[in-house]
Amino acid sequence: MSGEEGRNDKERRIGDERLKDEVMTCYAASCGLCRRNCPIYDITGRMVHSSTGKNRIIRGYMEGKIEPSQELAEAVFTCTLCGNCDVMCAVPNTEHFIAMRQELVEKGFFMGPLDAVSRNVEETGSIYAQPMAEPRPGKVTVYAGCRWGYRANALRRILAVLELAGMEPRILDEVCCGYPLRVFGFKDRYDANRGRLVKVLEGQEEILTLCPTCTVELVEGNGLPARHALEAMVERIGDMEVKRPLDAVVTYHDPCHNARYMNVVDEPRDLLRHIGATIIEMPNHGVHITCCGGGGGLVATRSDLATEVGKARVQEAVATGATILTTDCPTCFSNLREAAQEMGNPIKVTLIWDLLLRALR
Ligand code: SF4
Ligand code: SF4
Repeated sequence: MSGEEGRNDKERRIGDERLKDEVMTCYAASCGLCRRNCPIYDITGRMVHSSTGKNRIIRGYMEGKIEPSQELAEAVFTCTLCGNCDVMCAVPNTEHFIAMRQELVEKGFFMGPLDAVSRNVEETGSIYAQPMAEPRPGKVTVYAGCRWGYRANALRRILAVLELAGMEPRILDEVCCGYPLRVFGFKDRYDANRGRLVKVLEGQEEILTLCPTCTVELVEGNGLPARHALEAMVERIGDMEVKRPLDAVVTYHDPCHNARYMNVVDEPRDLLRHIGATIIEMPNHGVHITCCGGGGGLVATRSDLATEVGKARVQEAVATGATILTTDCPTCFSNLREAAQEMGNPIKVTLIWDLLLRALR
């Protein structure tokens, strides 16, 4: 495997016959199913922000009826890439939007904050321009990624949970998984980073990930044998002694990349039940989640909108009557916690790893 090989069959490029067929299918159907639960359309009510609208933009662009522009870029980038419209539709809409983002960047129309983030990766290997997680020896390769690498204390707690489950986590000298570069439209930077990433992770028999987005990128983008660490945790559930049961009613927010692309839905719930939690589901859960608002670069380009989406999700959690809203994704966690803070903390937002640590140690 090398950084130059193609990603996978899902990838689309502007001008591809498949992409042309798919946007024509959408145009002919115009069913609007994708607009149900589109977190952005729900708030702005603007068709250009829906999957239908973006597909029409792409069709118009490919037919030469729409010129690339900054205004067009702003419409296309106003999206969390949550994948609700992939689940509701027969075509891979988010791959369309990523292809259009890459096309716009190639034409010189990009979002400044996303350019800055992707330059950070190019120059330092991390979206934060900070060192990645400190390498450590062990027996099970764990890929921390930028977000946990940046949060050293939280990472220490996660690794402590894995140790309590009988694992010896090893961390390599990581670079970013590359997902931000790809979806922010910087294909050349993505390809360059991919070579570095594969060099670090190639040859590993198994890679446990701590971020759902990294999991998808390692598996689908690079063909690496990665899976979320929660899956490995569940396999050891029988050996995990619960010392302090969690006597609380909890609702779980499924990260889109876990639920919609990796089918990791039962595992966090099994773990929560194991430590004594009572789970009460939000109406939208599993593949039919509603987004936290934090994906697709929206936090950097439209933080106001990202927070509004997060607040809607927090409100959904509050309405269940649960006292704790938990999740495992670092992006979802940050965005939901910030949204909850702006709402006066009507519910406690906690990482599932912290609930596990409290119960197991
Ligand atoms: S994107 Fe899919 S679900 Fe949405 S209008 Fe087009 S065909 Fe229908
Ligand atoms: S990916 Fe999510 S935010 Fe973007 S258009 Fe589809 S449903 Fe809406």
